[in-house]
Amino acid sequence: EVKVANLAKRFGDNAVLHDITFTIGDGEFFTLLGPSGCGKSTTLACIAGLERPTGGSIAVGTATFVDAGTFVPPEGRNLGMVFQSYALWPHMTVAQNLAMPLKIRKVDRREQDTLIAETLGRVGLVELKDRYPHQLSGGQQQRVALARALVYSPSVLLLDEPLSNLDAKLRDQARAWLKRLQTELGITTVYVTHDQDEALALSDRIAVMSKGDMVQIGTPQEIYETPATAEVAAFVGRCN
Ligand code: ATP
Ligand code: MG
Repeated sequence: EVKVANLAKRFGDNAVLHDITFTIGDGEFFTLLGPSGCGKSTTLACIAGLERPTGGSIAVGTATFVDAGTFVPPEGRNLGMVFQSYALWPHMTVAQNLAMPLKIRKVDRREQDTLIAETLGRVGLVELKDRYPHQLSGGQQQRVALARALVYSPSVLLLDEPLSNLDAKLRDQARAWLKRLQTELGITTVYVTHDQDEALALSDRIAVMSKGDMVQIGTPQEIYETPATAEVAAFVGRCN
């Protein structure tokens, strides 16, 4: 369970998150949806520990990451992250890219090999393990980035527009594949997108944000059929 309560974030005088509250159930695919600049990435960065909130609390399971007197740094949170630019290390093979987070966590060498083989099997990349990133397609690179985020068994997966670098056709395939993998693993996932089709297709629940506020939280059907405001209706109902 991920519990975000009354989350607030200011950059200087600019209040970009006002009072964001939501709870995500175990195994849920939860999407933050909203137009550019509404604060989706900032919310995710606060959960990841990459940004320090100016108010509110964040907890995962029984662990409090943020509250009035607490700030757990990113390396203490055991979360998996994939961002828009996958940022694979270009001079490392696929297997070496996956080994990196394990080395940081001081996993011993034999265990590293086992975890890497297991994870590559899971994402269907075993035969590419000795390739370098530039020898992979965009879709394959995106899978490697996801594998690297999963290799140490994170409790929660944080994905910030991970498919937006792919062209339209690859993106559809990647979307279906991502959904299958998430369901199979049953891993709690916080997904960020400004693409309403993507949100409707992937999510168990969607949280619609606008200008730093939470506007509506519901299942794709609820959001689509009974939008809480005209703004949600216009945003979610728009065809593209
Ligand atoms: P997009 O869909 O374009 O990625 P977003 O919903 O992810 O948008 P955020 O990146 O969270 O939006 O940004 C929310 C607001 O916070 C924006 O107005 C942005 O300019 C501001 N902001 C984000 N990061 C910083 C920062 N490090 N310093 C100052 N302002 C920032
Ligand atoms: Mg963003």
